[in-house]
Amino acid sequence: MTRCIKKNLLSISLTLPLGLIAAGLLWQVGATGCGNSTISNPNTENNPNPTVSDIIPSAAGLIALPNDFTLLGTSVERDLSAITLSSTFGPRLKSSEQFRNDFHRGIDLPGNLGDKVLAMAAGNIDKIDTTTEGGLSVRIKHPFSSPVQFQGKSHTHYYTLITHLDSVTGPALAEQNQPDLEPAVAAGEQIGTLGQSGSTTFNHNHIEVRIGTPCSLEFQKANPESSCAQGFDPHVHPLLFMQADDGLAPAIEEVVRNGNVLRIRITTNAQLPDFNRLACALLDSNGDPISINGDVVFKEIDINARIGYQPGDIDTLDTLISSDGSIETIPAVFSQQTYIDNGKYLIHVEIDLSDAPAEATSLLIHAEDIWGNSRQITSTL
Ligand SMILES: [Zn+2]
Repeated sequence: MTRCIKKNLLSISLTLPLGLIAAGLLWQVGATGCGNSTISNPNTENNPNPTVSDIIPSAAGLIALPNDFTLLGTSVERDLSAITLSSTFGPRLKSSEQFRNDFHRGIDLPGNLGDKVLAMAAGNIDKIDTTTEGGLSVRIKHPFSSPVQFQGKSHTHYYTLITHLDSVTGPALAEQNQPDLEPAVAAGEQIGTLGQSGSTTFNHNHIEVRIGTPCSLEFQKANPESSCAQGFDPHVHPLLFMQADDGLAPAIEEVVRNGNVLRIRITTNAQLPDFNRLACALLDSNGDPISINGDVVFKEIDINARIGYQPGDIDTLDTLISSDGSIETIPAVFSQQTYIDNGKYLIHVEIDLSDAPAEATSLLIHAEDIWGNSRQITSTL
């Protein structure tokens, strides 16, 4: 049995000041859902009185990289710590396409036209491609030293993809000229120059990390007969492969309460826009989670684990679950932008408590980064 989230009892909205795009404009977005958005923790399934730790387990351990895994370098000649990402992994609103919602499956490193673009790890050039969206791109196949479990399967390889290049050079040029060659490439070897080819408006590298299959879920859906159609979304947050765990949990603060709407702010290091997970639960006066008709009142968004999303349907691939046939539709889009203030990466969250049951006396809010560093606060209602 799976438990369905009671979305009508607790709705979460994320609101992000768009300092980089439209100063002063707030995007009112929300993340709700029932349907596929069930509680993933089996501890609650046959447990009539789940505790807080039962319903909000750590999501750490999504991917266990081999102990000898060498973290990826950046694709440009700068340390990651010297770069402010212009967009991070996860849901966002895409200004270049009339604010269409978009699951950004990579991170964006801004740079200058003609900057050297480097292989982020040793491997073999797998494919050079030119598409309307990504422009000129280089995909590299890299071995794991030992198999890695992901999406219920064991994988021996991962892939890096760098798009929007201005040109390809060295082994990437050789591959472009002879697509069966798949030449070896060393970590840090130049493969091209930075640009803005494809659907973008500024010079940057869009970087993706794909585990186990070179093909995006979009491609797999469109080409189900392809050998690369493995039936799962291979993308993970590239920072998991690029940056050692900083050990810092996101900070959570209550900013303002306006009637039944509680606004909180989640803060992470600006150099590491590593926010991954938000979970909320209503608690009774004993500090126990509240259940209604056997369903724990609980909300969860997990970007890397694709919880709270509809990743299996190409039509809604890029959106969070926004409706369910049996439940009223709430305008529901979860979004984040790299909004930076005083060197911090900020996410504003609005939580509407207007339908909270009378026995609810507090709200537990749990925020977690991609490494599982987490923090919880309890807000008295
Ligand atoms: Zn991008």
